[in-house]
Amino acid sequence: MDQKIVEDIIKKVMDQMEGAAKAPEAAGAGRVSCDSTVPVELSGRHVHLSEEDIKELYGAPLTFVKELSQPGQYLCKERVRLIGPSGVIDNVAVLGPARPKSQVEVSLTDARILGMKAPVRQSGDVEGTPGIVLASSTGLVGLKEGVLVAARHIHMSPDDASRFGVTDNQKVSVHMDGERPAVFKNVIVRVHKDFRLAMHIDFDEANSCGLGKAARGRIVGITQEA
Ligand SMILES: [Zn+2]
Repeated sequence: MDQKIVEDIIKKVMDQMEGAAKAPEAAGAGRVSCDSTVPVELSGRHVHLSEEDIKELYGAPLTFVKELSQPGQYLCKERVRLIGPSGVIDNVAVLGPARPKSQVEVSLTDARILGMKAPVRQSGDVEGTPGIVLASSTGLVGLKEGVLVAARHIHMSPDDASRFGVTDNQKVSVHMDGERPAVFKNVIVRVHKDFRLAMHIDFDEANSCGLGKAARGRIVGITQEA
């Protein structure tokens, strides 16, 4: 097959994956839980950028497109290219608002494509993670660190936490229904008054249990105390 055809196919597939990544996140907004289960949302690969890197890449503030399920978080119009040691991923979502440090959240499969070993970390815990090059059509930024695989987690309010009998930073096990039922262990509970109940997993994890639309998980035990 000619190289151009291969590239077009890759681009098309990646665009579709991005689309699929965004939909469940948006669908989570405003969802009300009426039982003991947790809505599960898919987090596609994305970046959070510092003010400085936003300026370098786009020369202007980020453009709001739509709110995500967690209050204050939003998808931006801007897109970024990830350039790793042995691979490139295009058209990656940029989430706002700006953060103190830029951060790139990918799946383990993405990390393999990029040619790097990204550790599983909580969002924001970037110390010692690998660096990467970010590119827009007009700018280039080299990050010394910041690439991680987000640890699976559940956002919840203090009310939800007491309803489930769990506390902030505790790790729980969550049973996933679906075509390929599975139990995810070490799911980090994150409690904040502004959080809306939602479990976040990446594409690798979602595919591993054949996650369908409007999937829900059930907390079945505590894996590790906080
Ligand atoms: Zn999250």
